[in-house]
Amino acid sequence: MKNKRMFRAEDIPLSLYIHLPWCDKKCPYCDFNSHLLRDQNQFEEYTGALISQLRGWSELFKNRKIKTVYFGGGTPNLFPIDLVETLFKEIHLAMDFEEDSEISFEVNPLNMHRNSSIEEYFFGLNHLGVNRISVGAQSFDDISLKKIGRTHSPAEIELFLMEVCKIFTNVNIDLMYGLPGQNQIKVRKDIDTLKTFNVTHTSYYQLTIEPGTMFYSNVPKLPSEDVIWDMYSLITNELARNGYSRYEVSAYSKDGMRCQHNMNYWEFGDYIGIGAGAHSKITKNNLMERRIVISNPVNYVEKVQSNNQFFKKTSHLPGAEVLFEYILNASRLTKGFEILDFENRTGLEFSNEQEKFCLASEKGLIDITLDKVIPTKLGLNFLNNLQEIFTPINSY
Ligand code: SF4
Repeated sequence: MKNKRMFRAEDIPLSLYIHLPWCDKKCPYCDFNSHLLRDQNQFEEYTGALISQLRGWSELFKNRKIKTVYFGGGTPNLFPIDLVETLFKEIHLAMDFEEDSEISFEVNPLNMHRNSSIEEYFFGLNHLGVNRISVGAQSFDDISLKKIGRTHSPAEIELFLMEVCKIFTNVNIDLMYGLPGQNQIKVRKDIDTLKTFNVTHTSYYQLTIEPGTMFYSNVPKLPSEDVIWDMYSLITNELARNGYSRYEVSAYSKDGMRCQHNMNYWEFGDYIGIGAGAHSKITKNNLMERRIVISNPVNYVEKVQSNNQFFKKTSHLPGAEVLFEYILNASRLTKGFEILDFENRTGLEFSNEQEKFCLASEKGLIDITLDKVIPTKLGLNFLNNLQEIFTPINSY
């Protein structure tokens, strides 16, 4: 695979991700790096470790500005607001921000830190500079929520959302379809409730049964594939009718309100992940460097505190791995990608990769124009088939 281009780190947007890994309860479908909270003292030690990591990795931020920040989990709103404030102070000391940077904070209903009311907590976040909230609602139907092990009721979610929307104008609601016992009527009801909040964004995921989850060892009865397909069609059509355009496989937004943080992942930007299990991708010296932090939060804290290695580092030259990773991300976007962006982000010459792109085009999975590659409807619906074409041979 020939490579004539150089990565240009200064042209690549940079995001920061902070992982806050605890939850009140582990949901049976969850394969995220989330852990049951057993001891409130963990927050303070963990915050100390995050700060040490931020300081230790300061050279990665040098001469670059942060475009987006995302506090994800877990359930970040379990964290006391004063510790969130401590983190913000450190972040502002450690790095520069682009103007109008997007700062998102993920929350789950009812899981506010016990010392603050919902209102105080959101007011605190807003005061610190958070300008986007992502709410894990998953459904507004009581039975569906119970079947997927969520602890909040529809009324509690709605109350919670009202508080969010009083303070924030840029709000995402996560919803799910294909849930045990769910049908078209329930999905329609979820969409109707979503509409009443008139939020700027929704991420609407199909429930998948992932290895290592409780559902994997005890699979619930799910709707048939045909019913799930009808749900998906209903969601896409109804959201479009209400001003939410689908811009990624599972993401829908009002005009101009795409999630900039996720866009940076999908457009193969750089990101630095702080905290247990966080991933980083950093472009430097014509190499793409990846870092993966140890996933257990207790081990993470111990290793950071004792100055032991707490992450793995690998470097990749432009090649089949980088091509695959680019496609894995960019093919999720309905707009596809510009060929120039592909070359600038991967360091690869598009003309040298024609064979795979032509094969995908022959199969009707992408359209190739003079300057763009756009996944077709078929390609978006059968993303695995598209991505498989680009899988490096040694990954089989
Ligand atoms: S609240 Fe979210 S992160 Fe926590 S266990 Fe449930 S799905 Fe996982």
